[in-house]
Amino acid sequence: MLRVAAQIIDGKALAQEIRAELREQAAALQAKGVRPGLSVFLVGDDPASALYVKNKHRACESVGVFSEEHRLPVTVSQDELINLVLAANFNPSIHGILVQLPLPNHIDKRAIIETIAAEKDVDGFHPYNMGGLLQGNPRAVACTPKGVVKMIESTGMSIAGKRAVVVGRSQIVGKPAAMLLLERHATVTICHSRTQDLAGRCREADILVVAAGKAKMIDAAMVKPGAVVIDVGMNLVDTGFVGDVDFETVSKVAGWISPVPGGVGPMTIAMLLENTVEATVRAAK
Ligand code: NDP
Repeated sequence: MLRVAAQIIDGKALAQEIRAELREQAAALQAKGVRPGLSVFLVGDDPASALYVKNKHRACESVGVFSEEHRLPVTVSQDELINLVLAANFNPSIHGILVQLPLPNHIDKRAIIETIAAEKDVDGFHPYNMGGLLQGNPRAVACTPKGVVKMIESTGMSIAGKRAVVVGRSQIVGKPAAMLLLERHATVTICHSRTQDLAGRCREADILVVAAGKAKMIDAAMVKPGAVVIDVGMNLVDTGFVGDVDFETVSKVAGWISPVPGGVGPMTIAMLLENTVEATVRAAK
C-alpha cells in the first residue's frame, strides 16, 4: 500500500515564531523599566552542559533577556551553591533561576531545586510548580513537556478525547508531559521500562510522545497510521544525534512527526525564554 509521508513538525520554525513574540514582550517590559533577567548556574566542566548553557545565553540575548552565568568548580560545596541560589532569589533584577543538571554526586539535586524560589523556577522542577501541574493549576511548567504540547497543538489536531501514550516517566519530561495531555482531556497511558507489550501500547496512540533515551527504539510497526509522533530523545551515536524514534520508517506511517535535531530541542529553549518572560510579567505585577 502506498503511504503518504508524514508532515514534519518543524520545532525550529515554531521556536523562531515564539521567540519573535517574546522579543516584543521583552521590549514592552523594558519600555516600562523592567528587563527580564535569568541567572544560570553551571557546576563542573561537562562539555554537553557547557554547550547547553552557551546556547541558552545566546537565546536570551536574541530576545532581549539579560542572562548571567555562575560557573562553579566541580568541587563547589552544596552549601556554597545554596547560598548563591539564595542570593539570586533575593536579587530583584533576576526573574528566572536555572541550575544546569546533572550536578556532581556530592550535591543533593533536590535540595538545590527546593532552594530556588518557586516564582523564579523557570525550569518548573520545584515541588510547588510540579504540584500545581498535578492540581491542574500549573504556573511554571517544565520547558520540554511544555514545548511538546505546543508542537502537538501546532498540527491543528484536537487533543481532547485522543489516546495519548507517553514513553518515559521522568520528572522532567515523561510525567509532566502526561499531566499536560491529561489536562487537555487526552486519555493518557504512561509507559516505562517495565511496561509489557510496549509495541501494543504505542500502536494505540493517536499521540505518541517518546522520551526514553534509547536510540531509534520506536519503529514503524509500533506506530498507528496517521499518529502524531513527538520524539524527545537525544542520543549521541557515531553519526551524531538521533532520536528515540526511527525517523526513516516511522515517517512513512505517522501523520505528523518531529525530527531530531530540529524538533523538541529548539522548543525547549524557546519555552525557557517564555517561562522567564512570564516570571518577569508576574513579578512586575
Ligand atoms: P530518563 O533517563 O530520566 O528517563 C527515561 C525514561 O524512559 C524512564 O522512565 C525509563 O523507564 C524509560 N525507558 C527507558 N528505556 C525504556 C524502554 N526500553 N522501554 C520503555 N521505557 C523505557 O530520561 P529523560 O526523561 O531525562 O530524557 C529522555 C530523553 O529525552 C533522553 O534522550 C534525553 O536526552 C532527551 N531529552 C531531550 C531534551 C530536549 O530538549 N530535546 C530535554 C530533556 C531530555 P524507568 O522509569 O522504568 O526506568
